[in-house]
Amino acid sequence: MSDAADLVSVYQANNPTEAYFVKNLLEARGIEAAVSEANEPLAGLPIAAVDVLVKQGDLAAAEAVRDEFNRDVANRHSIPNWKCAQCGEMVPATFDECYACGADRPA
Ligand SMILES: [Zn+2]
Repeated sequence: MSDAADLVSVYQANNPTEAYFVKNLLEARGIEAAVSEANEPLAGLPIAAVDVLVKQGDLAAAEAVRDEFNRDVANRHSIPNWKCAQCGEMVPATFDECYACGADRPA
């Protein structure tokens, strides 16, 4: 039996930091969310994926927020590399200054 108050997974995060980020995003939109921490990390083992849980009744709204989050992540990865005005080096988009000469990314 499924009930509107049952918890369902809306997002499987790669790590707890990401899970809590999505949880906060959901709660900022008024959607009650929880992070599953059923996977007790053992010493020396990587932390397993973590689910972000919402109520069944909130799932559709939560999925919209999750899709928005996924688009944001995709957008961040699609920012093009930039060319340093000072030394001409192509610098990865994730850098805010040139790794070769230290010049700031052009505005
Ligand atoms: Zn440079």
